[in-house]
Amino acid sequence: MESCGRVYRPRRPQQTPLYRLLESLYEPVKLCWEERFEPCYGFWQGCWDDAVARYLDCGVWEEGFARVRCGECKYEMLVAFSCKQRELCPSCAAKRGSELAAFLTDHVLEDVGHAQWVFTIPKMLRPLFFRRRELRGVLARLAWHTVQKLMADAVCEPQLRPGMVSVIQTFGDRINPHPHVHALVSRGGWTRDDRFIPVPYVDSTAAQRLFRHEVFAYLQREELISLERVELLSSWRHSGFSVHNTVYVAAGDQGSIEALVRYMMRPPVSLARLRLLPGSDEVLHFPKAGGDDPGSAKPERIDAMDYVARVLAQIPPPRKHLVRYHGYYSNAARGKRRRDRSSPVESVSPEQEPAPSPEAAALRKRWADLLRRVYEIDPLVCPRCSATMRVVGFITQPQTIKRILDHLQRSTSRPRSPPVTGTQLPATCS
Ligand SMILES: [Zn+2]
Ligand SMILES: [Zn+2]
Repeated sequence: MESCGRVYRPRRPQQTPLYRLLESLYEPVKLCWEERFEPCYGFWQGCWDDAVARYLDCGVWEEGFARVRCGECKYEMLVAFSCKQRELCPSCAAKRGSELAAFLTDHVLEDVGHAQWVFTIPKMLRPLFFRRRELRGVLARLAWHTVQKLMADAVCEPQLRPGMVSVIQTFGDRINPHPHVHALVSRGGWTRDDRFIPVPYVDSTAAQRLFRHEVFAYLQREELISLERVELLSSWRHSGFSVHNTVYVAAGDQGSIEALVRYMMRPPVSLARLRLLPGSDEVLHFPKAGGDDPGSAKPERIDAMDYVARVLAQIPPPRKHLVRYHGYYSNAARGKRRRDRSSPVESVSPEQEPAPSPEAAALRKRWADLLRRVYEIDPLVCPRCSATMRVVGFITQPQTIKRILDHLQRSTSRPRSPPVTGTQLPATCS
């Protein structure tokens, strides 16, 4: 995996096919949503305007930037603000994946082996879980119940608590609505007295049966499914439910953890698998079969407006938790362990930003908001001497932005490459 080294390259977001699609087709799709796309992808969501606007501004110099300076050699450069949206922005999603992986290895995961578990549901149930967004959290909880019961039964310890981190993915290979759960699960669990008991193997067929039972029981309890439909789905030889749990990561293997977490956090759109067709109403979408090499599989032609609609349907309401922590890794359990160990380390999930304190001064809040948007290069490493760089100011006033960009002899219309002067403008690592 290529790390964020010291080679900064221009990102040029405006030149990506996703950017160009959203820039040209967002409004046309919005205009015909109710008639054309609502039956497939659900109601139009008010939050999409803001999400798309932020994506279109991500990494764009005219929207403002931070000044960062090297503490050692005093080298300075400017960093454009980022949108930080996992579902829409491939660049920010990659960052979020790395950020979450670092957080998990530093603050959440214990030094034991882990497995990736993937829980899927039948096609017939996917529209229900896709449209009723509140049910996505339920799906993660039912997956957790499945893991906990199976591991507890395996070692005859009813109170056994495995550790689990789950992410709901809502898209399939063709960016079609397909809610399913990806989870990183400890290969064993902890007893009440904090003793770890390994559970190296859990039968995936038993897991699939139990997960199916959990889902049906919930839906029946909530009167979201009829008994006839449950019987119909249960009678099929291939029920459509599946649980995979055979991808393992050894204790201490941080590289594999990061790769898995980035996979769990990947965005619906992979830029490597999307091509625009100049002069056409369609785009080319390369399937995943044959690996991620787009040259190895036959692409599918998808109507460009339908493609945009699929992408929009994946954007969740703002501030919805994407990552959930269960059992030994739950926020409550980790908080208790921190108190017990009297650890001075403050651990806050990157997916759960704390509510702003009412006492916080407005200026400080503004600074913090801006700081969170400086996301392009993390950590900020000096390209000249490798020392850590720090944010020393923000430029957000349109006149000042224009003056600096003009000074750096940049075009004012969506610059395409970073100016190189005494102050170097960076871009992201790829
Ligand atoms: Zn972004
Ligand atoms: Zn330096």
